[in-house]
Amino acid sequence: MTEIIVQKFGGTSVGSVERIDAVAEIIKEASKSKKIIVVVSAMGGETNRLVKLAKHFDKDPDKREFDALVSTGETVSSALLAMALQSKGIKARSYSASQISMRTTDSYSKAKILDVDADKILSTIKDNTIPIITGFQGVTAGGDVTTLGRGGSDYSAAIFAKYGDAKSLEIWTDVSGMFTANPSIVKQASVIDHISYHEAMELSHFGAKVIYPPTIQPVLRKEIPIVIKNTFQPKDSGTLITK
Ligand code: ADP
Ligand code: ASP
Ligand code: MG
Repeated sequence: MTEIIVQKFGGTSVGSVERIDAVAEIIKEASKSKKIIVVVSAMGGETNRLVKLAKHFDKDPDKREFDALVSTGETVSSALLAMALQSKGIKARSYSASQISMRTTDSYSKAKILDVDADKILSTIKDNTIPIITGFQGVTAGGDVTTLGRGGSDYSAAIFAKYGDAKSLEIWTDVSGMFTANPSIVKQASVIDHISYHEAMELSHFGAKVIYPPTIQPVLRKEIPIVIKNTFQPKDSGTLITK
């Protein structure tokens, strides 16, 4: 079978219908030579808006309802991206966490992924259809919606890279890779071309938000390379993370 890659697109990358169209072009190009599994975040700013709404009636809202609400941003962006691809003649299907049994612990807002129905995704790919999966969302054994923690879509993508035995995990974001410091604060920061899993994990633990810390673990064992790429400058080589 043609090799599989996972492409994850963050909030700013899908922040408007124009951006979603640009993302669909990136996926279309990659799909000419590879099988693609896509994971998306909510449109930029949407999760913050939902968090604010959730706190309207109670500063400390019910945890189950909080996750039910803030997880919805990803449902919107995944369906929109599937529509964008379909408009370009590409077969695509959106999937929410419950549709693919993305089972997690029941620790709302910081749930850990336990298991997923990867076969459903793999058979979608076999049918030459691109699955567009909601990041950040999970579901408990009892069927309640959970979320993985802010920035957690990277972690969802890593799980699919692992289960799909992907050739690589591409994290598409708004900067051209992992920098020596946060490029939006430190002007002299430069892109790191190549970094090890352990160094990347350390940087992310110390605040390099470009990659969510739990993302590395699922791909580490299988040594699946991670590539951080800029949706706004897709030709930039980005950062390669390997053993
Ligand atoms: P996405 O919405 O694509 O997941 P994030 O906002 O989570 O994007 O992460 C990208 C942001 O991480 C960048 O815009 C940058 O401001 C910030 N950042 C912090 N530290 C670093 C770093 N060392 N390298 C790159 N980006 C960093
Ligand atoms: N939409 C979620 C957030 O804003 C998850 C993510 O972007 O990775 O935190
Ligand atoms: Mg992020």
